[in-house]
Amino acid sequence: MVCIAENQEKVLLSFRTFGEEVFTPENVSQWTRDQGLPDEVVKRFADLYYSFGDGADSSHGLTSLSSRALVVEELSRCAGATLPFQNDMFNLEIIEAFSEESETAWVEEEYRQTGRIICALAVSEPHGGSDTMAMQTYTHTVDGRLILDGRKTYVNNGEYAPYILVAAIDGDDPNPGKYPSLAFWLIPRNLEGIKAVPITKIGQSMMPFASISFDNVELKPEYRLSNSVGGFRKLFRILECGRVFSCASSIGMAQAAMEDAVAYAQSRKAFGVQIGRFQQVEQMLTDMEVRLMNMRMMMAAAIRSIETDDPERRLTVALMKRYVPRAAFEVADDAMQILGGVGYTENSRVSRIWQDCRGNQIAEGTDQIMVRIAAPLIMDKYRTN
Ligand SMILES: Cc1cc2nc3c(=O)[nH]c(=O)nc-3n(C[C@H](O)[C@H](O)[C@H](O)COP(=O)(O)OP(=O)(O)OC[C@H]3O[C@@H](n4cnc5c(N)ncnc54)[C@H](O)[C@@H]3O)c2cc1C
Repeated sequence: MVCIAENQEKVLLSFRTFGEEVFTPENVSQWTRDQGLPDEVVKRFADLYYSFGDGADSSHGLTSLSSRALVVEELSRCAGATLPFQNDMFNLEIIEAFSEESETAWVEEEYRQTGRIICALAVSEPHGGSDTMAMQTYTHTVDGRLILDGRKTYVNNGEYAPYILVAAIDGDDPNPGKYPSLAFWLIPRNLEGIKAVPITKIGQSMMPFASISFDNVELKPEYRLSNSVGGFRKLFRILECGRVFSCASSIGMAQAAMEDAVAYAQSRKAFGVQIGRFQQVEQMLTDMEVRLMNMRMMMAAAIRSIETDDPERRLTVALMKRYVPRAAFEVADDAMQILGGVGYTENSRVSRIWQDCRGNQIAEGTDQIMVRIAAPLIMDKYRTN
């Protein structure tokens, strides 16, 4: 972290102690194979998370974005892997923004008690992830029955969570305006017409994903989260927090790769010399450290712009998401190079980091979509007439 407040120092140390105890290499390998964390680990996380309170109402645990990013970064560093906590925080953020507290307080209470988020998030669709507004999953009224139809992909925990938080277009809205009408529905996953098929990813294995189809699924009106005003605009704003979490995770993992690379560079000898003394290896280590510093500064700037609602927040967040995942992947890539053949084995931590980091160049808005967001804002920023 670039600069952290005094109370955040305490947060950092507590989560570091927890992370270093729990995320041993053996445990991480096992939980990667299991595609998830055991109950006692997520429960311990929740207990720690809610033992701190940095908002006006401390009952919500760590509410500031900077504290939560700090936790995601540190735990990703300890594990050298993508962990599910960032998705939990993002799901809770969406529920909070799209509903009244009285309606969904039970979701957070359940999370606090168990550390398990009760819902999977269903936003992306097979025919378009980048173009979110081209969403085709929709609700409509047929013979007085409220029906959900559509397909979703990359639904986190889609096979297991007891509820699904589904983003759907309101097909009954006769005047959607400039943007299609978007609503979120918190629906039980055992409704008739819902089918989930697992997605076999090449990384980020502790977060299992599924494709889900909704065929003629009958809904109750009370499943609809009541605060849908601002639909897509609101979703895009919350996505900025999601982008901070995925960058925080990338930075944590890149830091872990750096630590492994340095340890190897110090211990491995070739031609009778420590490999860390070869100029080309020194150059890789130096460039890796440059990237780590840059990544942290970009993330700190993005967090600040969100927390202060800076006029340039959209640009600052897009620049962070454009830069950080790729830079983190490059750090992991160089770390793999320094570890040589050992780095390319399944058992090396660096190879898992390499795979996990790569996914973040696609998740939460691809590298290219960040250019699409940033470039017009840059043109405006430097416009002279
Ligand atoms: C590890 C991982 C985790 C994920 N987690 C989630 C999740 O939790 N929830 C969720 O809903 N989704 C999730 N996703 C899905 C992710 O959001 C989408 O994969 C992503 O938005 C890209 O959409 P797409 O795959 O449909 O690609 P497409 O949108 O079809 O894009 C394909 C390619 O075209 C490029 N492209 C598209 N439009 C443009 C343009 N205008 N200009 C230039 N290039 C363009 C893209 O950059 C990409 O390279 C995850 C994906 C990954 C890999």
